[in-house]
Amino acid sequence: MNMNSDDHYIRAITSSGGIRVLVCSVAILAREIIRLQGASATVSVALGRGIAAGSLMGALLKPGQRIALKYEGNGPMQKMIIEADSDGAVRGTVANALAEAVPVNGRWNVPAVLGRAGFLTVSRDLGIGGEPYLGTVQLVSSEIGEDLAYYLAESEQIPSAVGVSAGLAEDVSLAACGGFLVQALPKADESEVTALLDRIDSLPSITLLLERGGTELLLSSIMGDIPYNRLESRPLIFRCGCSREKVERVLYTLGETGLQELRERDGFAEVTCEFCKVIYRLDAEELNRLAIFSQDSIPQ
Ligand SMILES: [Zn+2]
Repeated sequence: MNMNSDDHYIRAITSSGGIRVLVCSVAILAREIIRLQGASATVSVALGRGIAAGSLMGALLKPGQRIALKYEGNGPMQKMIIEADSDGAVRGTVANALAEAVPVNGRWNVPAVLGRAGFLTVSRDLGIGGEPYLGTVQLVSSEIGEDLAYYLAESEQIPSAVGVSAGLAEDVSLAACGGFLVQALPKADESEVTALLDRIDSLPSITLLLERGGTELLLSSIMGDIPYNRLESRPLIFRCGCSREKVERVLYTLGETGLQELRERDGFAEVTCEFCKVIYRLDAEELNRLAIFSQDSIPQ
């Protein structure tokens, strides 16, 4: 596999065992999600950053676990949700893909489309049944990466640095996209952490490093002369977990009356998946069948 062109992450740890570093490149899957969502230029940048952030969080999951990042703000984009599985599958959606804002000082104005005020909610499905574990923080800069770093420090008590970046070409298509996640583990050496954070502050832009030398260059630039071990590298892909069965389960909650009303009024139901935009159509017969099952399930 060509590590410089395919979407993937690399997980590494300093030889001292004190600092965990993850880097990722997600341009291919981000392009697919941006296309499916029909995103404006600034929303494309927001999505690219969010997809990088979600992919990095997904890289820390145990098998069978899932994570969702939900950014909600008072800007015109309203909401962005990124979901990642432990096997490297990522999907994303925004409430209003056409939101746009004027760039400021040559930078895409992500805070203007997301909104300065709002919340980041991280939902963890531990894959053992039961309700997902939720943590919420206020948005601190609405630049996506900083908000995730703040969440990790505040809600999960893990001092973290997050850098996520999406660069657009002149035709506003996505050129490079990815990022890093650096976490100080409990036995981290203070001076090593300081040295690493200083290096990160003086790094060239993430997209520039990715364009020049992929995740390898991003990782070696972050680490500098700090010795480290590569632990794992895995592909990242776009995949939506929606299905007809899941759509039926949602419709089922309308109950017998609701389903029969839908059948009599429209004669069918259409449900569009907000992530992959696949349209599920259920005809009158299928609605009737769901309604009958719904009736059977009413407790006597
Ligand atoms: Zn879907």
